[in-house]
Amino acid sequence: MATDIQHLGKCLCGAVGVALKTQGNNISACHCSMCRKWGGGPLLVAEFAHEVSFTGAEHITTFSSSEWAERGFCKQCGTHLFYRLKQERHYAIPVGLLDSSDWTFTEQIFIDQKPDFYAFSNNTNMLTEEEVFAQHSNKS
Ligand SMILES: [Zn+2]
Ligand SMILES: [Zn+2]
Repeated sequence: MATDIQHLGKCLCGAVGVALKTQGNNISACHCSMCRKWGGGPLLVAEFAHEVSFTGAEHITTFSSSEWAERGFCKQCGTHLFYRLKQERHYAIPVGLLDSSDWTFTEQIFIDQKPDFYAFSNNTNMLTEEEVFAQHSNKS
């Protein structure tokens, strides 16, 4: 089993700080249309985040982007802070938020929603929307 790694990060204006642990150092990309609209491009997140805590929580606003998930951002500077499942408290944390730089890009999800005008050259697992939801219903 991969070991826990501690990470720290801050939003662009510094009002919100985040601390968390990840199991291993994997990141994944989401190509879904919602993530691309939210961030202007694919969303790159740290995988297996846990013990997530925030400082300056009064500066965080959340947007309920679907029945099952919400997205958090800093009210002062707009930095994206998390994607979170409402039921399970599962967090995906944008990797750009964190000070760590030693990551391994292992997975791309919603690959069937990726537009043709870009493609990552990294060799990763690829999951379609259908495969993501199938995996998810196995978990719960
Ligand atoms: Zn901020
Ligand atoms: Zn997405």
